[in-house]
Order: sequence, then structure tokens, then C-alpha cells
Amino acid sequence: MTAAPASPLLSWYRAVKRDMPWRRDVSAYRTLVSELMLQQTRVETVIPYFERFTAEFPTVQALAAAPESRVLELWAGLGYYSRARNLQRAAQAVALAGGFPSTVEGLRALPGVGPYTAGAIASIALGLPAALVDGNVERVLARLHAMPDAGAALRRRVWEQAEAAVLAAEHLEVGSAGDHNQALMELGATVCTPRSPRCGSCPVATGCEGRGDPERYPAKEAKKASPTVSATALVQVVEGRVWLVRRPPGLLGGLWEPPITAQWLADPGESVGAVTHVFSHRKLIVDVRVRSGAARAREPQPLPEPVLTTGAYVEEAWVPLGEVEFRALSRLAWKVLDAARAAGFSSGTTAEPER
Ligand code: SF4
Repeated sequence: MTAAPASPLLSWYRAVKRDMPWRRDVSAYRTLVSELMLQQTRVETVIPYFERFTAEFPTVQALAAAPESRVLELWAGLGYYSRARNLQRAAQAVALAGGFPSTVEGLRALPGVGPYTAGAIASIALGLPAALVDGNVERVLARLHAMPDAGAALRRRVWEQAEAAVLAAEHLEVGSAGDHNQALMELGATVCTPRSPRCGSCPVATGCEGRGDPERYPAKEAKKASPTVSATALVQVVEGRVWLVRRPPGLLGGLWEPPITAQWLADPGESVGAVTHVFSHRKLIVDVRVRSGAARAREPQPLPEPVLTTGAYVEEAWVPLGEVEFRALSRLAWKVLDAARAAGFSSGTTAEPER
């Protein structure tokens, strides 16, 4: 009986795969080290680090017993030191247990090992029929199956497809999951690239549903528009002093500002324009109003509630314009004061606030 021919993807991978030190002498330990080093770092950068690291710590026991300072020294330059610490903690857990876990679930319990790394160790080093998805695999599968989804829905579908593809590969050739996974990653890295994929040289082009317009996939997740909130700011200057209030705990908590509120203000003054300020989840549009007088104006009582926070302002002060810069003001407050100043507003008795 002859073996079934390898899939076009596997044949292609075995013919063209790039030489990498962790592909030469495969073990769970070397796969773990290489995969953690490769997170957010290019292959060419990782190679010398991997060689130095595994020369000094050739086994999981050697790494487990090493002083952390030495591990970090050998990692220096790769950045994201939490990966190095997790790697050593994982090595210590493996050394303590007397060997690597033999299941994907067991691998996932190791520090720093997520679904991708667990799938890589299981399939590449342990020969298990486990799937993995990284950015390259996601792009290739999204294009191969012309997936219209984005975000979490896309990730779910890609994982399902990756698992189905691993089972199909195993059906053709038992023990080929590791090569199959690496073939998908290699295809994404060298042929099915984010921009200008080389469909004419692709081993799976015949069955690719996204080939006509590959860069359409994977679909980008639509950015949620930030909700817009409107508010009114009142810049009130009397006899060279500006009325400032201090925000309660919460957004911009403890900072001073001219009152900026979504509440109705009695006698709101004259509008001099609007300023926009974008917080992480909100866009704020503030109608800046000014009011002045020869005598101290009667401020609203009680103090109003600042926009985007619950609870009233906690303190108020009439601050000489020349001393405003010594108070802790938010960028939003300065934008409001700048808008008032640009409109030529002042009490006419002292200098404008300086920054
Ligand atoms: S045919 Fe093109 S889009 Fe499809 S997998 Fe190959 S390179 Fe990617």
C-alpha cells in the first residue's frame, strides 16, 4: 500500500521552508523558547538570541535553575521582559513536574503559554493534532474561505477552520499537524502577505475563494464611533479673577477648571465658540461662554455637576488670572480658557492667564 500524496500545501512547505535553528533540532523546550521569543519580534532578530540562549541553557532544567538576572541579560534587546520571566517560570513548572504536559490543556496552564503557543508546542514538538492561529494563519484562512467576518466572530471562525484543517491534514498523513501549521504560517509570511500577496505563486490558489480580491480579507473591524456629549463652559472673570471649580473624584478628578457642565446654567453668558475634546470613549463638545462684570458675579448655588462625572464640584475659588497656571488644570480646561482668550475676553483689569 502506498501513502497518500501530501497536500499541495505540505509539499510546497517541505520544498521551500526557511532554515531556522528551532526547526533543525525540534523539542518542546526549544519550541517554547522560540515561540516566546518570536512574539512581536521578527525571525531574523530572534535567531542570534535563540542560539545564545539555548547554548547557555540547553535544557529546560538548566533554564529553571538559572539566576533570573542572567536570563534577563540574555534576553536584553528583545524587549517585553515579562516574556522572559514567564519563560523561566514555565521552565520551572516543567522541571518540577518532571517533563512537559502531554495535552494542549496542560500546556495552556504553563505561565505565558496561550492557545497559540500551546498549539505550536503540541503540534510541532509533540506531534499532536492541535491547531494554532497567529496573524499569518488568520489572514491565510480568512482569504482561503473569503470570510466576511471581523473581530471576535472572525477569530472564532478562523479557529474552527484551523481545527478542521488540522484534522484533514492528519487524515492524509498522520503526524503532519506540525508541518501543516508551519506551512500555513510560512505561506502567510512569504506568499499570502498582508499587501500584494503573490497569488500566482501560491500552492493553494486553486481552491482559494478570496483570490479575486485578497486584500479585502480579513475584514477590518469597524471602529465604534465615540458617543458625543455636549456641555457648556462658563468663563467668568471679575476684577482680574477667574472663577474656577475643582472636580470631584472620577474623570479628571481633583483638577480645576471653569465650570463645564451639562446642566442648565442661569444667565449662561455670551457664546464665543466651541471646543472639542476626545476622551477614550467619549467625544465632548463644549460651548464656551463668557461673562464679566465690575463686581463679583453671583455664582450658581449650589455648585453644578461637572460633565461626565457624578457629584457636584467640590470646591471653588476666584483665582487671579496671573496665578491660574499654578493650579492643576486639565488640558480640557486650558482649551476652554484659550477659546475665551482668543475671543478677546478678559476682565480688562489684569493680565490674561498664562500657561
Ligand atoms: S491564492 Fe492568494 S489570497 Fe489565496 S491563499 Fe494564496 S496568496 Fe493568499
